[in-house]
Amino acid sequence: MSVKLIAMDLDGTLMAPDHTTVTEKTKAALERAHRRGIKTVIATGRTLAATDTVTVQLPFIDYVIYSNGAAVYDRSKGENIYSNAMPAETVSKITDILEEYPVFYEIYSGGFQHTQQSKSEYFNNNGLPQAFIDEYIKSMIDHPSIAEFAGSNQVEKVNLYYFSGEYYNEIKDRLSQIENIALTSPVYGDIEMTDIGTNKGSALEGMSKTLGISADEVMAFGDSDNDIEMLKYAAYSVAMENASDDCKNAAAFKTLSNGEDGIALALERFIFTEGKEKVLVSACLLGENCKYNGSNNYCPDALRLYEKFIAIPVCPEFFGGLPIPREPNEIIKGRAISKSGRDHTSEYESGAEKTLYIARENNCFFAVLKERSPSCGFKTIYDGTFSGNLTGGNGITADLLYKNGITVYGESEIPILLDETDR
Ligand code: SF4
Repeated sequence: MSVKLIAMDLDGTLMAPDHTTVTEKTKAALERAHRRGIKTVIATGRTLAATDTVTVQLPFIDYVIYSNGAAVYDRSKGENIYSNAMPAETVSKITDILEEYPVFYEIYSGGFQHTQQSKSEYFNNNGLPQAFIDEYIKSMIDHPSIAEFAGSNQVEKVNLYYFSGEYYNEIKDRLSQIENIALTSPVYGDIEMTDIGTNKGSALEGMSKTLGISADEVMAFGDSDNDIEMLKYAAYSVAMENASDDCKNAAAFKTLSNGEDGIALALERFIFTEGKEKVLVSACLLGENCKYNGSNNYCPDALRLYEKFIAIPVCPEFFGGLPIPREPNEIIKGRAISKSGRDHTSEYESGAEKTLYIARENNCFFAVLKERSPSCGFKTIYDGTFSGNLTGGNGITADLLYKNGITVYGESEIPILLDETDR
C-alpha cells in the first residue's frame, strides 16, 4: 500500500523548536509529497485560528484537525466537515472546579481561543519562547468572565495552564471524576479537556473514511500523549526522537527530532525511495530489540542513512536461530563461544550465510554494522574474556561480507559513508 495521507502534530513534531517556523527542508519534503497527490493534514490541540501561522508557511495543507480532534476543517471548502462539541453540563462542571483555583484557562469555541485576560497573572509560560507566547496571546479573545462565556457557547475544548503545581494533582483528580471527559497533558502543567471519544485518532479515522483512504495508507507523526490515538490508527505511525516514551511505544517507527527535520527524513524513508541504493544495516542500530539482552543499540545516525539509501535491517544472530534474549558470545580462537562456554559457531555461520544471501538479493555494496560485535564487528571485536576488552579481528558475518566484496562500515563511520556517496 502507498501513503495517501500524512497527518502531523504541530508543536514538537512539525514545528521547529521555536514553535513558530517550519524548516525549509521539511517544507520542501511536504511540498514534494503534496505534488504527488498525497493529502496533508495538521492535527493539533490548538484552535483553528492558531494554525494560521503554520498554513501561511505551508499553503498546500488540505485539512486541519484542531482542538485535539473536536473539529476538522477543510481548507479548500473553507468549512468544518466535522465537529464534536462538549455537552454543556460537562463544561459547567469543569468551570465550577477551575473557578475555585488561582488558574488561567481557555475555552476553545468556533475555532478560536477565548480567555479572561484578568486571570493572566496566573499564567506562567513554563520556558516557552516569548515570540511564540506573543503570537499565541494575539489570537485569544478576551471576556469579562470566561465561565459565563463557556456556559452560553458551544465548547470544543477546555485548556488549563497550571505550571506552578501547588494544586495540580488535586485539580487533575477532581477533573478526572467528571463523567465522559477525556484529559490529556501534552506537557506537565497543561491539561486539555475534551468530550470522551474526541481525540486526534477518531477525527483522523473519520476523515480518512470520508476520503476513501484506509488506515494502511495513512502516515501519522507525533511526539506527545495526545498523539497516541492517531499513531495507533495509522499504519505508518512515526514517533519523533523527542517524543514521550508512551508515544514511542504506540508508534511503529521512529524518526529524528523536530529540530533535526525528522518528518523530512521519514518521507525519504517511506515515500521518496525510487532510485535509491540499498544498504545492509545491523537491525539493533535501527532500534530493533534483537540484542543478546533483548534491548537494542539504537543509533540516530543509522536513521540518517534513509536520506540516501534504503536500509535493509539484518540480525545475523537471530537469522542463525539464536533466541532473543540469549547469552552473550565472544570470539575465542575463531569460534563463537557463549559466556557459559557453549560453542555457537554453527549458528553464527548460518546467520552470516543468510545475511550474505540477503545482501546479494538486494544488490548491496555497503553494510553498516554494529562495531565490536562477535557477528557484526569489523576490524575490532571483544577479546573473548567477557571483560569489555578489545582485540583486532572481524565478527563472523562482517568477515564473510567483506570477503565477498561488500564494504563494511561501523556506526561511527556513517558520516563518512554519507559523505563519500555525495560525490
Ligand atoms: Fe545487532 Fe548484529 Fe548483534 Fe544482531 S547480531 S544484535 S544486528 S550486533
